[in-house]
Parts: sequence; C-alpha cells; structure tokens
Amino acid sequence: MAYFIDVILPIPLEKLFTYSISETEASFLKPGMRVAVPFGKSKVYTALVYTIHQQAPEVYEAKEIQQILDEEPIITKRQLTHWEWIASYYMASLGEVFRSAIPSAFLLESETIISRTENKEFDETLLKDDEFLIVEALQHQSLLKIQEISSIVEKKNVLPLLTRLIEKQIIQVHEEIYEQYKPKLVRYVKLHTKYANEENLQHLLDSLNRAKKQREVVLHLFSLSASIKKPITVKELTQKSGGSSTVIKTLIEKEILEEYYIQQDRIEYEGAETEDSKKLNSYQEEAYKTIKESFDNQDVCLLYGITSSGKTEVYVKLIEELIETGKQVLYLLPEIALTTQLIDRLQYYFGDKVSVYHSKYSVHERVEVWNNVLANKAKAQIVIGARSSLLLPFSNLGLIIVDEEHETSFKQFDPAPRYHARDAAIVLAKIHRGKVVLGSATPSVESYYNAKANKYALATITRRYGDVLLPDMELVDIKEKHRKKRMNGHFSDRLLEEIEETLGNKEQVILFQNRRGYAPIIECNVCGHSPQCPNCDVSLTYHQYKNQLRCHYCSHHIAMQLQCLACGSHELDTKGFGTQQIEEELKELFPNVKVGRMDLDTTRGKYGYQKIITAFEQQEIQILVGTQMLTKGLDFRNVNLVGIMNADSMLNFPDFRAYERSFQLIQQVAGRAGRTQKRGKVIVQTYNPYHQILQQVSMGDYESMFTDQLNDRRQFKYPPFYRLIKITLKHKEYNRVNESAAWLAKSLRNNFGEHVLGPEFPPVARIRNLYLKNILLKIPKQQSLPKTKEIITRIKTTFLSISEYRSVRIIIDVDTI
Ligand code: ADP
Ligand code: ZN
Ligand code: ZN
Repeated sequence: MAYFIDVILPIPLEKLFTYSISETEASFLKPGMRVAVPFGKSKVYTALVYTIHQQAPEVYEAKEIQQILDEEPIITKRQLTHWEWIASYYMASLGEVFRSAIPSAFLLESETIISRTENKEFDETLLKDDEFLIVEALQHQSLLKIQEISSIVEKKNVLPLLTRLIEKQIIQVHEEIYEQYKPKLVRYVKLHTKYANEENLQHLLDSLNRAKKQREVVLHLFSLSASIKKPITVKELTQKSGGSSTVIKTLIEKEILEEYYIQQDRIEYEGAETEDSKKLNSYQEEAYKTIKESFDNQDVCLLYGITSSGKTEVYVKLIEELIETGKQVLYLLPEIALTTQLIDRLQYYFGDKVSVYHSKYSVHERVEVWNNVLANKAKAQIVIGARSSLLLPFSNLGLIIVDEEHETSFKQFDPAPRYHARDAAIVLAKIHRGKVVLGSATPSVESYYNAKANKYALATITRRYGDVLLPDMELVDIKEKHRKKRMNGHFSDRLLEEIEETLGNKEQVILFQNRRGYAPIIECNVCGHSPQCPNCDVSLTYHQYKNQLRCHYCSHHIAMQLQCLACGSHELDTKGFGTQQIEEELKELFPNVKVGRMDLDTTRGKYGYQKIITAFEQQEIQILVGTQMLTKGLDFRNVNLVGIMNADSMLNFPDFRAYERSFQLIQQVAGRAGRTQKRGKVIVQTYNPYHQILQQVSMGDYESMFTDQLNDRRQFKYPPFYRLIKITLKHKEYNRVNESAAWLAKSLRNNFGEHVLGPEFPPVARIRNLYLKNILLKIPKQQSLPKTKEIITRIKTTFLSISEYRSVRIIIDVDTI
C-alpha cells in the first residue's frame, strides 16, 4: 500500500503538492503538522500537511518527505478553514496565506539564516553532539546558512535539529530583532487626597509646625501644583524645596504625600479617588446594552462613539464578560495604533491574560504567543494585535474587537494575500460562531452603510466621557492670510496666537502635517529641473537632517545638490513642506520650546515611536509635530491645541476615498485635543475654507459627509455599491507593460464590458525600475463574485501562456483600498 500527503508549500503555487510517506508516517501524521520536503532541484521547504491519502499524483512521481517536524498539529481546523477563505476570496494561494501567517521560526527552509540567541544561558553539557557543533560554529561565525549547517554536521536533513535548537531558544532565525521598549518610570508626588480640602490642609500645616523641613516641602509642593499644571516629579520637588529625599520619604510614609508613576496614573484615570472607575456612565452603559442585545440575533455590531467617548471601556466590559465563558478574545488594531498606552490599559484590567502579537516583536515572542494560543492557554486568552494576529491558531474565539475599523491600513498591501483584516475578522468570527464589534469615532462609509441597512447592528455614543466638549474647530483661510501678509512661514497668525496661548497655559500642542503629497522637493528656479530617482518616476525629496535627497519608494539617495544638475544654476528652491520643515520653523519661532517630531524618519528602528510618545506624555516635549501616526488612539491629557497645517493636500488626493479619509483624519487628529475638562481648540489651515468636507468636519457633521459620499459612490459606481478588483501589471520594459496591459484590458472588456477601467499608469508609474499599469474592474452587486474571479483567473492563465507576456507580473487586489 502506498501512502501520500498533500502539502501546502509556502510559495505562490496554485495547487497542493503531493509527497509519498511510509505507512508508519501515515498513521502518525495529522493535517496541520509540518514536514520538511525537497522541492525542485535542491531546495528544502517546510510544508504543512493538508490531507493524507492513497492517491498517487498523475503527472509527476511523488518524492519522499525528508522529515516530520511536529508531534502535534501546529494549526487548527478552523484556522485552516479561514485561511482557505482568505486564499479564495483574495485570489491568493494557500501557500501565500501559510507563509504570511506563520512566524518565520516555523518556516525553516534552505534560504534561512540562523544566529545565536543573545544572552541565553544554557548548560552545554546537556547538548547533543550535533547541537554542540552548531553552537560552537556560531561562536566563530555569527550567521550560518542552512547549507553550511548541513556540511558542519554532515547531514542532509538538518531542519529537525534546528527546530530543536530553536525550541530551546539557543538559536534564532536571523532577522531584525526589535527590542521591547520599557519606558522608564518617572516618580511623581502629590499631596495625599485627604488634604484636598483646605481645612484638612490647614490642620496638616499646623501639625507640621515643628517639622520645619517637612512643612517646607509640603508648602513648596502646594505652590508648585498651583503654578505648573503638570505632574510634579520627585526630582523637581527636591530641587525646588531644597528638601532631601529622606524628608520626602518620611512624608510619603506618613501618608502626607503620595508617590505614583506616570504610567499607573495613565490607567488609573483622572482623579484616582473614584475607586469604581470602571463603572460605565449611562451613555456607555446604553451602548453596551445595545451591543449585548444585538448579539442575540446579529453577529456584527458597529460601535460608533465619538473620540474620547470611552469606547475602550465598553470593550473592556464585553471582554470581561466573555472570558468568563473560557473563550478567546481578539482585539485588533492598526499596527501603529498598538501603543503601550492601550496595552498597559488592558493589562491593568486583565493582567497576564493579555498577549500582544505584532511584527515589531521578536520571533521568539511571536512563537510563544502562537503556541499559547494553540494550546488555548489562559495566558493568551486575550490577544491584542495587528492584522496578522487574525491568522493565529485560535480554537475557540468568542469575540473579535476591530478598533479604529475605518483605518485603511487594515488592508494588507504587499505581499499576497491582500486581505482586509476587518472583513476577514468577520469571516473568522463566523467560523467560530463568535461575535464582532467594529469600533470607530468615524466609521468607514461601508460599515456605516451596512449598519444602516441592518446588516450590522449599531450602537452609538454621542458624548465624550465626563461630558467634555468636542474641541472648537476654526478654519483659517491661508490664501487670504498670504494676501494680507499674515503668514509666517507655514504658520498663520491665528495658529501662532493659539500656540502662544496654549504654551502660556503650560499646555501642549500637536501639529499635524499630512505625509502624502507634501514631501519637500528641490526645484531649479532657472530651468525648473528637479532631481529625479533613477529607478522610480518620482522626484527625490529633501531630508534636511541628513542633508540628502532621497527616494521614498526605493531609498535611493544622493547628497544634497548645491547646483542644478541640469543647468548648473545655484538658484535651487525647496518646494512643498514636510514635518521637518515645520519643526525647523518652530525652532526659530519658539527658540525656548521643546519640539518633537513623529514621522517615519524619527520612529524607525528600536522603540523610536514609543520614546517620542513617552517624552510627550511626560511633558518633556511641548509641541509635537507629526504625520498620520498622531491620529491613532493616543490619549494625551494635557494637549489643548491641535493645528492642521494644510488640509488641502489630503483633499486633493486622486482617490474615491479622499474625502472620506480627510474627514476621518481631521476628526481623529482633532480628537487629540482637550480630552480633559477644558474645551480644546483645533485650527485647520486651508486654501479652501468653503470646501464641503471641511465645512462638514468643522461642524462634526458625520451624517452629511456620509450621505454626500454615499451619493457619490452610487453615482460613480464605487463601494459599497460595486466591488473593486485592481489588477496591476509590472515589468521593466515600458512597451511590454503597455502592450500586455492593453491585451489584458481587452480580454476583460470582452467579458465585463464597460465595467473595466484603464489600463492607466498610476501617479508614480515606475518603482524600482519596474513600470506599472493598472486596470480597475467594477463589479455590480448582482454579478457573481466567484464567477468573476473564475473568469479573471482564466484570462490570466491565457495571458501567461503568451510567451511575450510570461515575464510580466500580475498583481490582483480584491477590494482594493
Ligand atoms: P475612545 O476610545 O472612545 O476615544 P477612551 O476609551 O480612550 O475613548 O476614553 C477616553 C478617556 O475617558 C480615557 O482617558 C478613559 O480613561 C476615560 N474614561 C472612559 N470611560 C470611563 C469610565 N467609565 N470611567 C472612568 N474613566 C473613563
Ligand atoms: Zn536648472
Ligand atoms: Zn526610487
């Protein structure tokens, strides 16, 4: 009797591949286990067992597997069902889903490079001989390829050996490891709440009459608190009062002073004296009830609650209740919204039941979370993570929360599978018979539409927590300001006035500059030339900090030019402006104020992002300048002014979502202002103050925005009325892209007629030396989606059989954003 397995290989193969196994292996193997298999001439891959059967493949002879890598399946049935849905819906291969789902340590293959785990103590005498050889080799050479390891141990199949070493955490798959950042805890002091009222305070001061030094410290603290609004550090108090740290210690012991750490304060809420701080207010309670009731007959509920309305607390209640039942919870967030602020807050409630899963974590941490989820351990009962955490081995998922559901970054861009995490979450919940809450202060047009059409339930919170007013928004016409010479660089007089006032009140400022379309470029005043990237069709952007011109698409860079490359003139001008330029201008305008900047440049690498957030929280920075990253669920207590430097760059973006996104972006950034009692202020600078979207934003009129956008979408055939599939062709030869795209568009038109748009070059038509051309397919609701995809696949197969087109890459993006 011959036995076979069909396996999923982690490559874009359309079909499963068959290998032969022995009878013993057949009785041991289960779907979801990994095996090492040979592929092609000399490759070895980690593959996933899909089925075990006795059907020999017809067109090729099945090779034998090399080794079984697991004792038990590492993926679950439900997970596989979900992966299959993703593969089929987003027109990707199962192998591509497998590859993007699994931590790289699970995916050893011939190209893998390994290195030693740092600072890992272990007993060398416990190592097996072959293990010892590897450890020793890694002392001489920090990185080893699988092939090198093969020759060191004189064995062809080394994957089991490596798997062993990885499990012992002695080696790791080499990749950039991000260290976890633990912000330093700063010690603060305040007067004990007992002395909040004046009478008690007077008593206290009287009683301290004899303890001069202690009295001095208390008085200083009292006057400091009155003059500076920000929390007072122990260090400051020691300096200002001249009291020693022993005096402060005594005061703390006597419960006259209270010490606290800023992080605890953050999760303890304003006014720590409310012990039942977790109690929902009536608006939250109402929303919570609506969600709960909706779950009786619906699977998805949209929670539309304005910024700072306390959505997180509602999620917390839902989670609390759900974990009682022993089920798992997934809390999904856009990658950049995964801040320690939120993680801390959840850990504060749920302790070590919370596991975090995202790409900035090391492989070992990811493997650990994976295994904990797989084993359904209490430790990983609540997973908080970015997009990819959807692909974890859940076995009993009861609730998925998709926070900031409107975020377009939930859509995977590259590589395949190009899935939308929100939509894939809804499918995943269905597989587990679980529920979904989509949360946002500015729901996506699609989700709100679904809610209105009763496809989803709807819960709303229309008030901010503590009845804090939404910030007051003022539109400033910078065209007029320019005309009247009331601009100072990129700052209008109004914005400057407000900044001064805010700083004067010892409050903080956030300035937002949209990343898109406003990177500074160099232009020659004489001939108009601006330096271009040789690999991409874009101008190089100026980076002051490094004094370089860089390409944002491929990282090509040259030194900043002093002369025009085309005509030799010295008259070079910078056009456009970015966060850097604003930062520079601020330094001139407010030389004594600490300015911080948060954008891709400053947050790259080790805990860059967290560092800036912490510095801002701890009020070491007064003005924070940043891009999109600033919008994401950050809760800063002392920010009272938000300035939007230029609203037009977002509005002018050529994209059917540009208006919706502008509304969301401005509303979200504005939501960072005035989250405490005092009403915040938002200044929006624009050339177009009468633009319909800006009017709607300034009134906070989501409904009108929604109605307008929905009408546009209906009229111009966009989602939610039509589905979109974008097909991109890529090749290094311009002509070949052109011709093949024309062929493809024509074939599509033969089937779909007027619903095919293009081919068209995108705004940046060449990236990394490859020309791009797009075709957009619009699919009306009544047209079958599976059929449509079938036709596309068929056309693609024919396309690739044409020899001149074979080398053209085709990228299919279903539900393109
Ligand atoms: P959202 O996510 O809707 O923007 P948050 O959940 O961040 O709002 O809440 C805004 C602020 O209000 C937070 O600082 C939070 O600590 C506080 N808050 C919300 N709900 C409560 C509650 N029930 N009790 C005490 N504080 C709350
Ligand atoms: Zn020139
Ligand atoms: Zn480039």
